[in-house]
Amino acid sequence: MIKKIGISIVSIIVLLLLIMVVRTLTFKGQNVSDLPALPSPVAINVESALHRLKQAVQLKTITINRGDPINAERAQPWLNFHSLLEREYPKAHSTLRREKVAKYSLLYTWQGSDTTLDPLMLMAHQDVVPVNLATLDDWNHPPFSGNIENGYIYGRGTQDDKASIIAILEAIEALIARNYQPNRTIHLLFGHDEEVAGTGAEAIVALLASRNVQPAMVVDEGYFVINDMAGFDGPVGLIGVAEKGYVTLDIVSESIGGHSSLPPKNSANIQLAKALLAIEKEQMQSHLNSEQVQNFFKAVSPEMSFLNRFFLSNTWLTSGLLNASFSNTPSLNAMIRTTTAPTMLTGSVKENVMPQRAKATVNFRIHPQDNSKLVFEHIERVVSQFEGVSVHYRDKGIFREPSPISPSNNKAFRILSALAEKTGEGARPVPALVLAGTDATFAHAISENVYRFTPVTYSMTDIAGIHGTNERLSVENFLSMIEGFSQLIQMADEM
Ligand SMILES: [Zn+2]
Repeated sequence: MIKKIGISIVSIIVLLLLIMVVRTLTFKGQNVSDLPALPSPVAINVESALHRLKQAVQLKTITINRGDPINAERAQPWLNFHSLLEREYPKAHSTLRREKVAKYSLLYTWQGSDTTLDPLMLMAHQDVVPVNLATLDDWNHPPFSGNIENGYIYGRGTQDDKASIIAILEAIEALIARNYQPNRTIHLLFGHDEEVAGTGAEAIVALLASRNVQPAMVVDEGYFVINDMAGFDGPVGLIGVAEKGYVTLDIVSESIGGHSSLPPKNSANIQLAKALLAIEKEQMQSHLNSEQVQNFFKAVSPEMSFLNRFFLSNTWLTSGLLNASFSNTPSLNAMIRTTTAPTMLTGSVKENVMPQRAKATVNFRIHPQDNSKLVFEHIERVVSQFEGVSVHYRDKGIFREPSPISPSNNKAFRILSALAEKTGEGARPVPALVLAGTDATFAHAISENVYRFTPVTYSMTDIAGIHGTNERLSVENFLSMIEGFSQLIQMADEM
């Protein structure tokens, strides 16, 4: 009898292992060997294209605060930028229709010959973040110089995101010069206040919605090829299929206060500290098993060791282990769940006064599988066990729900995959979640296929330049952008 039980346990274990191995071996994403072929890119005079980018970088289209809109007094750099585009891209400006929306955001329309086709929309933004004055001396070249040295052009906007505008218009100017006429209408959406989560792009999307425009595909900034991503030998072409939402909550703790010579038990600060420890311990739910996260790991699976694939393809058994391990690595943790980040703390104003009110401000980046209401309810449930502690929406600042998730099994995604593969010279295309916010989020209102990808290849060091010191773009990457956009535009007809 015991022997029989022993045999059947062994055979169950063998069967389970077999299932797990089969799952491991069949755990993969799209077949990258038959991605669509790309048309030939445009030919470019690099020197003059660089000169135009340099002029664009020199214009200080700096946005600083949300709720501090660009008024007539501050608008000159944007107006100069519009004039620069008009002057430097005469063919584009006589062929495409340009409209100014929300005063300084730009919408271009390149009418396609077949008006029954839904358009392609390319997005980029005109504004840049300021430079921290204390870091000015750390720049190899001034941040608004556009100086070129050793194959790099320096300055704000070279990576984020003016170079995209210049590259798109370079591509279009060159395509028009060779008499290219698209079948599918092309829209260009260049917002003026993306860096402060402004309303320019949103206004253009609303205008397009009122005209019943529903792009077949939208491409904005957000991701690129990374050639030295931790855990991968080869380059990885991250294609953003969704972006996280953003909400900030105040956790408030109230108590009687009084003199610090007679401290009460469970003062406001202590109660707040307990509440913070509790939300740190009880994180928002993991979405390791969601389709979006699984698609990411399926796509990168050929780059993973057998053991990693074994664990990731069998989350029905391994999710406890994996969640524990992912939660300890910030980049993986951010990928699978809504993150919880206590940022500001206030309590008493004097060293010998017990606070009547202590407050922690906590910033959440909401996973696409969650929403702000779920976050609020979760935090409220966790902190309500502590007397005197309550949760409140912060009244000012940015608030955004996470975006919907665009498909990664359609033609649009395969075209971007081909572009990523070519950009990174064999990069593996991967559907990924963008952790920060972009203007692309608005476009989900009018399109099901919204993606975030710029045809450039960065190292982790390059990425540090975005919003940081020594923001710079290699001439090679600038060319890759122009070529990539010219190919994307031509591919629109193949969709
Ligand atoms: Zn940007």
